[in-house]
Amino acid sequence: MIEALCAPMTDRQPLSRFLPALTSRLGQTQAALRAVGRRARMRSWALAITAVLFLILMGAGSLSGWVTIAGFAAMAMVIMQQGPSGGDDELGEDASGAGSASRRASGDDTSWRPLVDAMPDAVVALDHNFVVMHFNAMFEDLFPRARLQQPLSHVSRNPELNEAVERAVSASEPVIVDVFERVPVERRISATVSRLGGRDSRQTGLPFLIISLRDMSEQDKLAQMRADFIANASHELRTPLASLRGFVETLQGPAREDTQARERFLGIMSSQANRMTRLIDDLLSLSRVEMRVHLRPRGIVELNEVAAYIAQALEPLALASKIKIVVTRSESPIRIRGDRDEIVQVLQNLVHNAIKYGKESGRVEVAVSRVLDGTPPQPRALVAIADDGPGIAPEHLPRLTERFYRANAAASRDKGGTGLGLAIVKHIVIRHSGELRITSVVGTGSTFSLLFDELGTRA
Ligand code: ADP
Repeated sequence: MIEALCAPMTDRQPLSRFLPALTSRLGQTQAALRAVGRRARMRSWALAITAVLFLILMGAGSLSGWVTIAGFAAMAMVIMQQGPSGGDDELGEDASGAGSASRRASGDDTSWRPLVDAMPDAVVALDHNFVVMHFNAMFEDLFPRARLQQPLSHVSRNPELNEAVERAVSASEPVIVDVFERVPVERRISATVSRLGGRDSRQTGLPFLIISLRDMSEQDKLAQMRADFIANASHELRTPLASLRGFVETLQGPAREDTQARERFLGIMSSQANRMTRLIDDLLSLSRVEMRVHLRPRGIVELNEVAAYIAQALEPLALASKIKIVVTRSESPIRIRGDRDEIVQVLQNLVHNAIKYGKESGRVEVAVSRVLDGTPPQPRALVAIADDGPGIAPEHLPRLTERFYRANAAASRDKGGTGLGLAIVKHIVIRHSGELRITSVVGTGSTFSLLFDELGTRA
């Protein structure tokens, strides 16, 4: 600024020649600074609403402290630079502030509305009579019947919400309540009602109350799933542990001198310890896979090679049940973008299940091929693992990939199952942008199909 003001001056020229230009530039600078100050005053409401909304988001845990500050600063800059109203400010003030005063009196200041639209939560702005002035798309999603100029009580008859609004009028802090909606689906919504100020909305055009709402149902469901998972995992571990402790006590007490019983008990204890080890291994695998589910795999995997490797690795297990594993390779190699260890684990879990739950002296087929799939049809890589076992009843199919879900719990435990194999498969397949399809006919057998994009066939 100083450089710009002094730029035309040279050493030899008399100062008096530049004084008029200098004073004129100083005048312009002062006017510009005054305009910024005026703009800040004019938009103080919009700035205040922004600050309240960001504080609500920070309080709800959506934003960290730094993101709140940066977000508020960015929005404040947008407000200060906003086009039409900014231009009017200067015009209005140049004409001794008459323009801005009349706009305030007519209550048409709408500069705050884009802020409500930009909020990541459902937000509605109300006037002094709790009439809806504005709401964003998220609010409309939650309350499809919402209309402008309608009292809030018509939008939601929920007593908790309407009572919170009444309370917010005289409260010094935002009022936070849980709102339970039953229609169209049951859900818990956390609502924060904040009063913005005491000025009459009809005159200023500014909201009196801001309500921000967040649907907590998904979060509740996740918390419930986490709690169920821990309960299930503890239960799965507690059973073999209790059995181990029982045998240890028996061996220390009544069976101390019984050599035959000791041999038998030690065998059972060993299998229970193995069961616990398998469960812990599967739990660790699942948590590793879940952690990486959003990371794109970087390697290249050839599916025929993995199918042949798994068939060979599981042959001894298949032979123990007199099952024959038959691999059908594709005509040419099929490569996918993937993590080999994970693809190996997927095929291992599926072929192992086919052996475990298949027919004794039966057959397990592992076929690698290319198919046309989807609309419009696209060439995709397919690995199908089919057995000729007893099959799975249709009601179980949609839930098979849930953790610890078993179609037949006793059969699974007898065969050393943990109930986590298909959950691991599902997560790995998601990470590879693939698909798992399960078809089964009771009495005939089951087919688990894996579909992946072949490398080079899609962008
Ligand atoms: P588990 O460790 O119990 O085998 P999984 O997650 O691998 O757990 O499988 C879940 C359930 O799906 C199994 O308990 C079993 O009831 C059923 N299942 C999986 N594969 C087959 C199959 N090939 N044939 C019949 N049932 C199967």
